[in-house]
Amino acid sequence: MNPVHFIREKREGGKHRKEDLKAFLLGSLREEVPDYQVAAWLMAAFLRGLDREETLWLTETMAYSGKVLDLSGLPHPVDKHSSGGVGDKVSLVVGPILAASGCTFAKMSGRGLAHTGGTIDKLESVPGWRGEMTEAEFLERARRVGLVIAAQSSDLAPLDGKLYALRDATATVESIPLIASSIMSKKLAAGARSIVLDVKVGKGAFMKTLEEAQLLARTMVEIGQGAKRRVKALLTSMEAPLGRAVGNAIEVREAILALKGEGPEDLVEVALRLAEETLLLEGLDPGLARKSLESGAALEKFRAFLEAQGGDPKVVEDFSLLPLGEELPLRSEEAGVVREVDAYRVGLAVLALGGGRRKKGEPIDHGVGVYLLKKPGERVERGEALAILHHRGRGVEEALAHLREAFVLGEAASPSPLVLEAVG
Ligand code: URA
Repeated sequence: MNPVHFIREKREGGKHRKEDLKAFLLGSLREEVPDYQVAAWLMAAFLRGLDREETLWLTETMAYSGKVLDLSGLPHPVDKHSSGGVGDKVSLVVGPILAASGCTFAKMSGRGLAHTGGTIDKLESVPGWRGEMTEAEFLERARRVGLVIAAQSSDLAPLDGKLYALRDATATVESIPLIASSIMSKKLAAGARSIVLDVKVGKGAFMKTLEEAQLLARTMVEIGQGAKRRVKALLTSMEAPLGRAVGNAIEVREAILALKGEGPEDLVEVALRLAEETLLLEGLDPGLARKSLESGAALEKFRAFLEAQGGDPKVVEDFSLLPLGEELPLRSEEAGVVREVDAYRVGLAVLALGGGRRKKGEPIDHGVGVYLLKKPGERVERGEALAILHHRGRGVEEALAHLREAFVLGEAASPSPLVLEAVG
C-alpha cells in the first residue's frame, strides 16, 4: 500500500481494498504513516464518502486496534449509546432497569462536550463515585452487580482516539460514515452482544433533521449487524430537553425520582422503550422492563451500582448530599402557553453557568443547572417562574439571556411523538 496512491484513490472517488485500508490505518497508529497523510485521507473520505463495506472495515480496524473486552461469559451482555442531548439522563434509568431484568449492562461512557451533557460527569456529582477503573474491576462489577459504567478507556479503540483528534483539527468531524464508525468501534470493543442506540433528532441534538438521523441510525445498525452484533436504533426527539432537569447533580436527582416511579413521563417513556428493545434483542420478555421499574428492583440496582463504584448510596434517600447551587427563578414577562423550549438554548445556559465544557478537559461545576418548571403545552401566568437556575454566581446573565430565548410562548403546537421511529 502506497499512502499517496491510497489517498489519491479516495480523492478520485474510488473504493479501497480492505487490506489497503487496514494497512494505511494501522500504519498511522504505529506512526509509520504521518499525520499529514492521514489528515489528507480524512478530508478525501469526508468529501467522497465511504461505502457500506469500507465503513465496516474502518470500524473493525478501529475496534480491534487496542483492547477488546470479552463479556461473553456474562448473562445477556448489553450496551446503550446516545448520540447526545440536553437533559439526557436516560442511561441512568435504562441501565438499572436492564440490570434488574437479568441483563449485564456494562458501558463505557464519555464526558459532556459543548451544549450536551455526559453520563460520567453526571455520576461524578455523587460523592465518592468514580468512573475510572481497571479492566479487572470493570469485569468484576459487571459480574457482581450486573451494572457498571466506566469512563471511556483510551486502551479501547485507540485508533479512533487518534483519528478523532485529527478530525477535530481538520474540520472532518461531521461525516456520517466517520461518526458512525467512530461510535460503533468503541461499542464493538466494549464487548456487548446487543447494542441499543438512541439517536437524538432536533434543536438540541447533533442531528438536526430526521433525514440525517435516519442515515446515521441506518449506518450504525448496518455496521453492528455486519460485525455480528444485535443492534436496534430508536430515533427520539430532542427539540425540548428530556425531563425537566438539565445539569449534572440535578439530573441524577431526576433519574433517581424516575427510578422511584415519580416521573417525568417523557424520560420514563424513552427509557422503557429502549429497555424493551434491548430485552427483545436478547430474546427476553420486554414486559420485564416495566416490572423492574415498578417493583423498585431497578432502584435497588442503582443503589448497589453507586456503592460498587465508591459512591454514597444514601443520595438515593437524601438529595441534600448532592451539590446544588443557589436558586434563581426566571419569571415570564407575559401570560400564555409555552409553545417551545429550545433544548440547544437550555444547553447553552447550563454551559454558561459552568455545568459543561467548551473544550475537552475543562473542569465543570456539578452543582449548577436549570430546572424547567414549564414545558411545551403548559400554561404560564405573567410573573410566574418558567425555570429555576442553580448557579454559583458565574455566567448568570448569559444563562438568563439563553433561557429567555429558549422559551417561546404562543399557540400550543400539537404534541409530537417522542419516539419517532425504530431502525433495525
Ligand atoms: N461521538 C463519537 O464518539 N465520535 C464521533 O465521531 C462523533 C461523536
